[in-house]
Amino acid sequence: MSAPELLRLHDVTCAYGRGDAAIAGVDLTVEPGSFVGIVGPSGSGKTTLLRAVLGTIEPRAGRVERRPKLAIGYVPQLETVDWNFPVTVAECVLMARPRQGRRVWPWATKAERDDACAVLDALGIGELRDRHIRDLSGGQQQRVFLARALVRRPDLLVLDEPTSGVDVRTRHEVVHLLRDLNDEGVAILLSTHDLNGIAAHLPSIVCLNREVIAAGAPRDVLTPDVLERTYGARMEVLEHGGMPVVVDDLAAAEPSTGRVIPLRQAFGRGAGEMQPASRPKANRGG
Ligand code: ADP
Ligand code: MG
Repeated sequence: MSAPELLRLHDVTCAYGRGDAAIAGVDLTVEPGSFVGIVGPSGSGKTTLLRAVLGTIEPRAGRVERRPKLAIGYVPQLETVDWNFPVTVAECVLMARPRQGRRVWPWATKAERDDACAVLDALGIGELRDRHIRDLSGGQQQRVFLARALVRRPDLLVLDEPTSGVDVRTRHEVVHLLRDLNDEGVAILLSTHDLNGIAAHLPSIVCLNREVIAAGAPRDVLTPDVLERTYGARMEVLEHGGMPVVVDDLAAAEPSTGRVIPLRQAFGRGAGEMQPASRPKANRGG
């Protein structure tokens, strides 16, 4: 690839087995230093798109170009990790270190241990290095998996729903950490279904519903039309402090007070996955 980008998906279609396409005709370019969020409802193909980026799924059609020697760090969705796997924080991080040359034995060198500890310290969890990964809070677990990705010194960090299942404070911490890493030059590609908490704050987002519905800055992309095509439901977009705020319908906003109920709250735990809670239930009695 002669262009300066880190990675490019050309018209990529992926499917599982003989099933229908999970993503179809996706074009995506990741530039050095970029910070891109993939948004869409559950089942819209976010994880599949990230897997195409990582190379853990082969496209059925189209192609993925990666810059030669591109180092990618991957942070899986916390819910998919087996937390009973018997390792400590430090061991968990060391297991992810890049393989050095032709060395055959699995033990880490002193330099590798020091490096893992430095990364854990930088993430504020150095004192937890001997703790079992099971005995951590959601935010701490998220940092362990960030540390695993960072010991590879990635040019690109890929995170699948990094704030799903964590509380609001942890969400803020994770977002700050990612912003700091991005400031240091690491490109970031993440998936999220948190439109207001995450997506609206990113420089660039891609709305996905099997196909790319729209891509660009949140204020250009988060429109009722794009959201309806992405989520299959009508949503309104208000503005707050120069930032778009998505509400599932006008019933979720109280115009008299100007108070906006965050989408997360309006929808329950994650936007796009559940029925909007604010809509009255149909009367099944009669
Ligand atoms: P998202 O991450 O947005 O929830 P996914 O990429 O996980 O979406 O899923 C996209 C589609 O692919 C869904 O229809 C899902 O059922 C299907 N899918 C995902 N993973 C698998 C798999 N391992 N085997 C078969 N189908 C899958
Ligand atoms: Mg997913």
